[in-house]
Amino acid sequence: MTKVLIVEDEAGLVTLLKYNLEKQGYETATVMDGHEVLQVALTEKPDLILLDWMLPNVAGIDLCREMRKTYDLRQTPIIMLTARGDEADKVKGLSFGADDYVTKPFSVPELMARVAALLRRAKPVAVPDKIHTFRDMTIDYAKHRVTRDGREVHLGPTEFRLLQFLMEKPGDVLSREVLLKSVWGGSIYVEARTVDVHIRRLRNALNAGGEPDLIRTVRSAGYAMDLGD
Ligand code: CA
Repeated sequence: MTKVLIVEDEAGLVTLLKYNLEKQGYETATVMDGHEVLQVALTEKPDLILLDWMLPNVAGIDLCREMRKTYDLRQTPIIMLTARGDEADKVKGLSFGADDYVTKPFSVPELMARVAALLRRAKPVAVPDKIHTFRDMTIDYAKHRVTRDGREVHLGPTEFRLLQFLMEKPGDVLSREVLLKSVWGGSIYVEARTVDVHIRRLRNALNAGGEPDLIRTVRSAGYAMDLGD
């Protein structure tokens, strides 16, 4: 059964989320105290986490970052629940490791659609050859593990999938629309700009050791894996 961990300190919201998620057939677990989140997440092993931005004791955004650094949680899809409207916060949430965000007050059907879409895209796509090498990068598809020059590259599920699609035809330019369709399943709730945010995250992770950029931005056309020739 698919399990969703609700990290939220407003009891009323927890009840609403729990009720609707269970109605959709998901199992749920709840944690309200920021200090307990990591431990609960490690114990419950959820398939997806709904993470409140504003929690007592610890900020959701810091938890998000922690989870991405924690081996057993680095691949768990995260949807941030943010307060209304702050665009900068949304982008910040995505750049700290969330896969999606929903602004409060949110519509329940929209949130359920986003949960379903994220669970769909967090599933690994057809595995090509088990281990693929591209320039100084190695991708182990079965283990969901990426290394660059021997250094482990930490990628969330959305970035991994993005990399996987870009790697299908290295050198080919993929437009934002194509990437949206392949990686996000063409969800009506995702804006083209989201692609840029996740590309930036993927790029930062890949180049964290100061190596040359593996992704080429082609102005007004899209992105490509840089063959480096
Ligand atoms: Ca809160």
